[in-house]
Amino acid sequence: MQREIRNPEDISRPLEFLRNKRIEFINSGVVEIDPDKQKVYLEGENRKELDYDYLVISLGTELRPEKTSGIERTYHAWELKDSIRLKSALANFKGGKVVVGPVEPFYRCSPAPFELAFMIRYISEQRGISEKTDITVIHPWAEPMQPFGPFMVSAFKAFLEQFKVKFEGNFYTSEIKDGRIVSKDGKEIQYDLAIIIPAHEPAKPVYTNPKLRNQNADGYMLIDKKTLRHPEYRNVFGIGDIISRSLGIGMAGVFAHFEGDFVASQIVDEIKGSFLGMTYNKSGLCVMDVGYLGAGVFCDFSKVIDGLAQYPDCWMLGGMKAFRGLKVAFEKMWFAQIFGK
Ligand SMILES: Cc1cc2nc3c(=O)[nH]c(=O)nc-3n(C[C@H](O)[C@H](O)[C@H](O)COP(=O)(O)OP(=O)(O)OC[C@H]3O[C@@H](n4cnc5c(N)ncnc54)[C@H](O)[C@@H]3O)c2cc1C
Repeated sequence: MQREIRNPEDISRPLEFLRNKRIEFINSGVVEIDPDKQKVYLEGENRKELDYDYLVISLGTELRPEKTSGIERTYHAWELKDSIRLKSALANFKGGKVVVGPVEPFYRCSPAPFELAFMIRYISEQRGISEKTDITVIHPWAEPMQPFGPFMVSAFKAFLEQFKVKFEGNFYTSEIKDGRIVSKDGKEIQYDLAIIIPAHEPAKPVYTNPKLRNQNADGYMLIDKKTLRHPEYRNVFGIGDIISRSLGIGMAGVFAHFEGDFVASQIVDEIKGSFLGMTYNKSGLCVMDVGYLGAGVFCDFSKVIDGLAQYPDCWMLGGMKAFRGLKVAFEKMWFAQIFGK
């Protein structure tokens, strides 16, 4: 099947376009948030300050490659510039041992290292180098997709078998040497091409702020799980990856999307004194691209967020070309809705 090749300009839009929705975009870094003074300070010599009545924090996570010695020998696809670098490494790859995996169990998009491994199998088959390509996913989890429960574990084991990808669990990467990855307990795995996802950390304005960070969730943002408001500063909300560890779920754009709707609804309710009644959709719907085909995964995290269950309820519809089309269609619809094109 012919795959659509898309370049960075095809998958991004200038944020200035938001002015069409009467939203002002200021292209600047946030250096500090003071919830007592209701101010956000921006970088630059004169530390411009912004006042707010409501604040929605969606600063996500930062990658911290410097935490893993030797990681510069490896590749990953967790930021756009790094994806472009990986793309050229894959274009020059002539077969050999490929190792894919995160250094820590929490990172953006739990299934993505697996998807990447399946796509590499697809690419190597297309190029006629599959016979000499050995692919292994290394992971801190004992089993593939462990936090998603037994159904997803068995579904991913079936995928691993189908795409001839090995899985090495309980693997906590300690350092990367020339040609081998060493785990904290002294295991070693050889590689010709290593795709290693760096450690993630909450964005600094939250991580370094004792009023905003959750001490019990590795410094991710402190929120009240029912409203996504800060428990003390009730006009401060959090959405997306920055609150993921406080909710006890993974990092996914689909969560940020539904959380955004829920928070916007609460703010409008308060300002207008009306009740729009938008409920908090605690589900994740994800289209996985496994190279040849797509798969649709739906998980309901309500019981996990409410502390009533260890695993979400998940369903999967696999092996349909239509899902790949759906992923591209969603992107086009989303861009058109928000940016007008
Ligand atoms: C390879 C890959 C595949 C993925 N696939 C999927 C998928 O299929 N489905 C899915 O749902 N999710 C997927 N995700 C996860 C998804 O991209 C993230 O969960 C989502 O982008 C989180 O949104 P966010 O707004 O919370 O954070 P981000 O998207 O990280 O946005 C945070 C923004 O804040 C900015 N920022 C940070 N600090 C500052 C500061 N101090 N001042 C100013 N700006 C700042 C950052 O530059 C960034 O633009 C994938 C991620 C990766 C890497």
